[in-house]
Amino acid sequence: STWWSNVEMGPPDVILGITEAYRKDTSPKKVNLGVGAYRDDEGKPYILPSVRKAEDIIHKKALNHEYAPIGGEAAYCDAVAKLAFGEDSPVFKNKSNCTVQTLSGTGALRLGLEFITKHYAKTKEIWMPAPTWGNHPQICNTLNLPHKKYRYFDPKTNGFDLQGALEDISKIPEGSIILLHACAHNPTGVDPKQNEWMQLSQVIKDRKLFPFFDMAYQGFATGDVDNDAFAIRHFVKDGHQVMLAQSFAKNMGLYGERAGALTFLCGDSDSAAKVMSQVKIMIRTMYSNPPLHGARLVLEILANPELKKQCFAHADIESFIWKELAVNPYFIPTFDSSSGTVPDFDPDLTLGSELSLFSIPVQVLEINSDMRNINVTKVLADVKHMADRIISMRKGLRSGIEGAGNPHQWQHITDQIGMFCFTGLKPDQVEKLTKDFHIYLTKDGRISVAGISSKNVDYVAEAIHKVTS
Ligand code: PMP
Repeated sequence: STWWSNVEMGPPDVILGITEAYRKDTSPKKVNLGVGAYRDDEGKPYILPSVRKAEDIIHKKALNHEYAPIGGEAAYCDAVAKLAFGEDSPVFKNKSNCTVQTLSGTGALRLGLEFITKHYAKTKEIWMPAPTWGNHPQICNTLNLPHKKYRYFDPKTNGFDLQGALEDISKIPEGSIILLHACAHNPTGVDPKQNEWMQLSQVIKDRKLFPFFDMAYQGFATGDVDNDAFAIRHFVKDGHQVMLAQSFAKNMGLYGERAGALTFLCGDSDSAAKVMSQVKIMIRTMYSNPPLHGARLVLEILANPELKKQCFAHADIESFIWKELAVNPYFIPTFDSSSGTVPDFDPDLTLGSELSLFSIPVQVLEINSDMRNINVTKVLADVKHMADRIISMRKGLRSGIEGAGNPHQWQHITDQIGMFCFTGLKPDQVEKLTKDFHIYLTKDGRISVAGISSKNVDYVAEAIHKVTS
């Protein structure tokens, strides 16, 4: 016998179980659509160029390995909160936010929910979307926090069930906590539209509920970090004092570095200081202080304007050029059609070329001579690059299935956003995909679009067509 003879075997983690089965499969055709991490078109992990540069810079600084403060570096906390709430958010003017570095998004959720068990004075009930990320209910179970569901995903349309959500939320007991995925909902890939977020904000305010946002994918949904923060910023504008869990696992590819943050909006600086004092006690007794390296990378990128653009720039370059021209409205770049360049603006600007414009990496796809500007260019910045690849794989998958003459509707593949797609495949179809086609995914029909590449997209489309027709 051992001290632990009473311990029973726990169930294996669903996602990790899939990866294990995939690894054991010897078929050359095998595809892993279970992983929750971005892969490049070769199926390899992707290290963001901005992260590489930040690593070089940090390496040269030869920093020491002293402890970080309990809540992480203040500069990091300030920078990440600004990325979420917006540089000009009023919450920073009156110092009403309490932000600490956490062990990535999971650590932020765990710390936030634990704080609720100890310090939240209203209804300690967590309301989650149905379905939600599996770790949400698990963390609540660990903390003995009751959790319930509100309608979110509509299997009939494979889209957002606005009416169902509004109806359910309007019946949640006052003072309860409502968990919201800020963007790129996991596992469904279904997000409310902006006007739907406005309606949700209103009913949540009417019901006097406390919104807890989980933002694990800022930038991943649309390629635009500001756009993806719409819901949070709108809720703040509506007067909600939200709580926010942030992660840099996906949008900076820092999975194993565990860089995240938890923010409480507290209404005033006095309350924020009190909350901070208690959060610090909680952290101190759990892991004492957070890891350094990931947070250093995040801060280097956010605080360095060049790296920030490399990482997060997203708009068509046209608008940047216009912004720059606004400084000097008399400057009119001319297009030289014989050389295909804009010599007085930038001699390197030729069709197809990849170059840096105002520190933003771009590829020139078209130069327009008839307007007083250079036209559409493709931004090659890191997050946009990942978001665009995922969007193009969605298009490829949908057109592959439809092109095969499949009788069902597949528009939801391109309507949904972010890393995941809730295909609508039934468990027996999923089983067939795995058994007959060596394609691995979770039983609920969720696929990680990041696992699709230009090499396997036709194969996956054909397989989905075959198991559904
Ligand atoms: N929330 C959601 C919805 C997620 O999908 C994830 C990542 N799978 C996380 C939080 C947190 O991930 P991490 O702890 O790696 O930051």
